[in-house]
Amino acid sequence: MQQDYDLIVIGGGSGGLAGAFRAAGHGARVALMEPSALGGTCVNVGCVPKKAMWLAAEVGRRIRMGRVLGFDAASGALDWPTFVTHRERYIHNIHQSYRRRLDDASIVHMPRRVRFVDPRTVECDDGMRVSAERILIATGGHALRPDIPGAALADVSDDFFNWCEAPGRVAVVGGGYIAVELAGVLQSLGSHVELQVRGDRLLNGFDADVVAQLADDYRQAGIRLHLGTDTAAIEADGGQFRLRDGQGGSHGPFDKVLLATGRGPNTRDLGLEAAGVDTDAKGHIRVDAGHATSREGIYAVGDVTADIALTPVAIAAARRLMDHLFGGREDASLDLAQVATVVFSHPPLGTIGLSETDARERHGDQVHVYTSGFRPMLEALTDTPQRSLFKLVCVGEDRRVVGLHLLGESADEILQGFAVAIRKGITLQDLNDTIAIHPTSAEEVVLMR
Ligand code: FAD
Ligand code: NDP
Repeated sequence: MQQDYDLIVIGGGSGGLAGAFRAAGHGARVALMEPSALGGTCVNVGCVPKKAMWLAAEVGRRIRMGRVLGFDAASGALDWPTFVTHRERYIHNIHQSYRRRLDDASIVHMPRRVRFVDPRTVECDDGMRVSAERILIATGGHALRPDIPGAALADVSDDFFNWCEAPGRVAVVGGGYIAVELAGVLQSLGSHVELQVRGDRLLNGFDADVVAQLADDYRQAGIRLHLGTDTAAIEADGGQFRLRDGQGGSHGPFDKVLLATGRGPNTRDLGLEAAGVDTDAKGHIRVDAGHATSREGIYAVGDVTADIALTPVAIAAARRLMDHLFGGREDASLDLAQVATVVFSHPPLGTIGLSETDARERHGDQVHVYTSGFRPMLEALTDTPQRSLFKLVCVGEDRRVVGLHLLGESADEILQGFAVAIRKGITLQDLNDTIAIHPTSAEEVVLMR
């Protein structure tokens, strides 16, 4: 039977848009279903507005440093509404660019929420049915709230992007990417921040030494870290809030509570049973290495699967899948073994490959570790307590580099080039043979021995 389209893409976020553009580029007739703003989480309530807020926080820090160095920089306080206007204008331009590109590629954008009625057909929220030979699910995820009394009183990261001022006192619950990033932004923009972390460290899975240095930098910046503190309840207290912890302690009052306790996949109302698509215990769509689901002709990429929840991962998966389906590339699979990632903390933390702990578990006493702790020149000139720590994890006689962990100014920009080299299998000697760029933070990577 002739279907309406070659491909329906459900969700116009990072993965969905990348898949739609790549499939159309191969000549497929594509319909894109996206009821909300184009760009999904990343563009609207994720990477982009978050990075803008991080930049604002960094500018504020530079203004304070400038004052120490003799610049005539007045209060340095941020007028949030002005900044938000600039941020949203930037995002509006991204929306316009997507609209133009969709038109140019002849992709039909239907601003509709959809669910499956059978494996080849989806039904829109207005009852219209659309069919295709193949369907890509890229519906992303949403913030999870812990199952505790008062959880609904708190905000999550989506709400954070509607804030128009820095709250005086704010509790951030969680110790992962979002908690660490937004705690840093808020403290730098003038809030007093208390970070409630149930485990005994921040950023589980990241290298322990580098994370310990970040925790120290955060304490020095004035953030109060409550490690090993379960948040058991959130209570309203006049116009403010208090947190009760699992040990009977009470924290607050706070003007805002921000929950950053993980995200879950958007699979609940998709009609996956009608399509015969399997999910795992957490609701993620099960996919094989080629991103095919349990039902032939239906595929999934991005945060709706259990892949690493990062925009470039969703994009890379979608592009490779479309190269395979419509571009005739049989070899188009995705290597997720060494994905570089950055936590936009203050300072930023960039990481690729194995932590020292993971390397020792895998390679025992074959592991060799090199570290460099230092103060970047600007921090030294302004006499701030913030310190950088770079760490290289190598394996074997030839000291093959299996992990690089960078905490410090510009780590977010430095890491990408080294990621290419590490994926190519470089050794410590290759780094040492490379003449340094002086004076920079990056040179520390090639000088470690
Ligand atoms: P999404 O981008 O979430 O897109 C899913 C889309 O599907 C949405 O637009 C939604 O409206 C639509 N949809 C849902 N259900 C339906 C339906 N039934 N019918 C039709 N459409 C539907 N990653 C990074 O790499 N770097 C960062 O700095 C970074 N920062 C982040 C900061 C925050 C605060 C958050 C929350 C995330 C951040 N991420 C970052 C993660 C990144 O945003 C996600 O990994 C990425 O957006 C996932 O893309 P996706 O296409 O899977 O889903
Ligand atoms: P993460 O999985 O990174 O962190 C969740 C945190 O919440 C962990 O510290 C976890 O603790 C804690 N937690 C979970 N449940 C509870 C609970 N009931 N009570 C208290 N604490 C709890 O999720 P995020 O929401 O921070 O981010 C989601 C994903 O989005 C990230 O994993 C990342 O892939 C992506 N992202 C990427 C960014 C980037 O690239 N810069 C920025 C932001 C998000 P525990 O560790 O003990 O389980």
